[in-house]
Amino acid sequence: MNLLKMARYALAGWLPFGRRHCVICGHAVWRFMPFGRGWAGVPPLMIALKVVGSDPEHFECPRCGAHDRERHLLLYLRASKLLDDMHGKLILHFAPEKRLSKWIRAAEPAEYVPCDLYPQSPEVQRVDMLAMDFAAEMFDVVIANHVLEHVGDVDKALAEIRRVLKPAGCAILQTPYSSKLCKTWEDPGVDTESARLQAYGQEDHVRLFGRHIFGSIESAGFDSKVQTHAQLLPDVDARSYGVNPAEPFFLFQKSDG
Ligand SMILES: [Zn+2]
Repeated sequence: MNLLKMARYALAGWLPFGRRHCVICGHAVWRFMPFGRGWAGVPPLMIALKVVGSDPEHFECPRCGAHDRERHLLLYLRASKLLDDMHGKLILHFAPEKRLSKWIRAAEPAEYVPCDLYPQSPEVQRVDMLAMDFAAEMFDVVIANHVLEHVGDVDKALAEIRRVLKPAGCAILQTPYSSKLCKTWEDPGVDTESARLQAYGQEDHVRLFGRHIFGSIESAGFDSKVQTHAQLLPDVDARSYGVNPAEPFFLFQKSDG
């Protein structure tokens, strides 16, 4: 981090009487820091297609580094009581955000398995979402916060998530999607970082989900429990908490049969 950036973070995070609140670290801050150039750095097509995902303008907590999608998910987990319900349960967490992990561990699940295809820490187990080395019906909750837009075969991933979930188990599947596109947009010809950035919004995304995402997850054997920010967090001012009010809570429950 260069000196100018350090100074900006210090002012935003350490000056007293900040009016924003980071739910992850509990500190009051003056602002949440942008990702790159904020909205100016987002490809125009993503703006035209009204892509719902991270808020690049109010992204990172200057105190703890938490991203807006971690803050929003913690708020959603609390409001839905899912965090309290994790006590004594078996939880599988893909691409685990370490700050969110602390909150989940604090709920005292019977077993918490943080995992990733490319683990960066010895605490994180190597797991391929497309071929999990777990018995069927093992977990009560699977969390994949902004993961599905990266996996090669989303149908296979959903089938695997369903397989390892206990009956009526829950999957939390936050992902960016276009609120204008009907269908999911994916093409093998979009095969360079530059093309993926323009077409899908990020260099390492392999598709842009459309509104069909909700129906396709249901078709994979889940009941939708999706709720909007306004429904689940009516008293939470999105600006104050640095979260995107357009991002819903992607909660799905394994259906029968
Ligand atoms: Zn924070």
